[in-house]
Amino acid sequence: MFNKEKWKKINLAFYRDEVIKSKKEDHSIIEAIDFTKFKIEKKSQLLDGIPFGIKDNFSLEDTNTSSASKILKGFKPNYTSTVFKKLVSNGAIPILKTNLDELAMGGTGLTSNHGPVYNPFNKEHIAGGSSSGSNYIVADGTVPFSIGSDTGDSVRKPAAYTGVIGYKPTWGIVSRYGLFDFAPTWDTVGWFTNNVKESALLLDVLQGYDSLDASSLHSTDKNFLEEINLENEKYKISIIPELEKYIKDDEVRNDYHKAIDLLKKDGHEIIEFKPNLKIFESTLIVYRIVSSLEAFTCNSNLTGFLFGNNFKKDVGYLEGLNEARTKGFNYEVKKRFLWSQEARYSKEKYYLKALKIRRLINDEINKILEKVDVLLIPTTTDLSSNINNLNTFDSKNVLNNFLTIFNSNGSPSLSLPITKKGHQSTSVNISSLPFQDKKVFKLANRLEELNEK
Ligand code: GLN
Repeated sequence: MFNKEKWKKINLAFYRDEVIKSKKEDHSIIEAIDFTKFKIEKKSQLLDGIPFGIKDNFSLEDTNTSSASKILKGFKPNYTSTVFKKLVSNGAIPILKTNLDELAMGGTGLTSNHGPVYNPFNKEHIAGGSSSGSNYIVADGTVPFSIGSDTGDSVRKPAAYTGVIGYKPTWGIVSRYGLFDFAPTWDTVGWFTNNVKESALLLDVLQGYDSLDASSLHSTDKNFLEEINLENEKYKISIIPELEKYIKDDEVRNDYHKAIDLLKKDGHEIIEFKPNLKIFESTLIVYRIVSSLEAFTCNSNLTGFLFGNNFKKDVGYLEGLNEARTKGFNYEVKKRFLWSQEARYSKEKYYLKALKIRRLINDEINKILEKVDVLLIPTTTDLSSNINNLNTFDSKNVLNNFLTIFNSNGSPSLSLPITKKGHQSTSVNISSLPFQDKKVFKLANRLEELNEK
């Protein structure tokens, strides 16, 4: 659990400034946070004195927040995200704004306007993205936790590539107010920690209805930390053996089996499922179509005129817009916007088709989750890729895109390391039906204990 005693002894302003100096090269940080500036009322001491970093796509009042995009250079929102406020009101100290793939679109950590973020344990390998900086600073021990966002897998996959815990809660139970929209029907706040209990405590702090977020949901699931012990309960755990054919590295396969064996020996029931993988093969394409269209709509205010970077003053709207978007976005973002227009204008009605297939995907996964307590899969197909040999986008590799299914249906999903070995770490992923985050934490905590014995 967070070491409050250790952090109490450290002058955090001094520590933060030293961190900034020493981290110029690795690009994990975008800037320091002046934590004396935020006058937020204290409600509890649950996180008293614990420093954290937050991805640069969470609005902080009167503070540069650019989502690592040139088009938002110099943008200072006039409001602060709910997640940030909640953390601070529970005693945590925000010290660092972390780097990301521009506008959270990307999976490598290499597509930021503030420089690439590599794996902290080996610069030849990826840290994963889009929450690359938040992942980095927990993995290298700079801060005990950090906040990211997860639209397709952007917290859980990077977490696996560095051997930390990455968690995304049920869609809607943690406010997205102040998080820059990427694709709101998939977007979730997520976080990185070093153990499961810390992750559960953060949900205790962050969960809750927020009238400022129109998609905010009420949940009755609570006391995640207090009730984390499984006691004598035995869970029904589903596995999908067919997914193993997509695994690329033996370490991933062996550790997945190790996790299954540990749980079996602990008395849990392992149930094999054989879903229609053909349906899951469509996950990446459905995600691309729907998320790009949502992204295009949500980012329509990035014009270069309203706020952020004004590339060309005193020109007409279209000329200015063209200039701002041509210079303001990197290729990855442009690609997404082009996809969105193809989906929108094509006679094929791709968007409608994608929505229908999304329904099939959700039904297929929910059919499994309804019959068990949790589903256990390997988090990734592979160990962190070499930067010269990226294999992040492979639509036919069902396992490679499996985490995105839990954004599609809104399930909680947690990536737990089995072997922590720097850039060669392996992890498994635990998920459940939406609103059963507690089951995910309970099983993850148990598996963590069994694995450490
Ligand atoms: N890698 C995925 C993408 O590029 C997920 C991004 C995310 O979760 N923010 O869209």
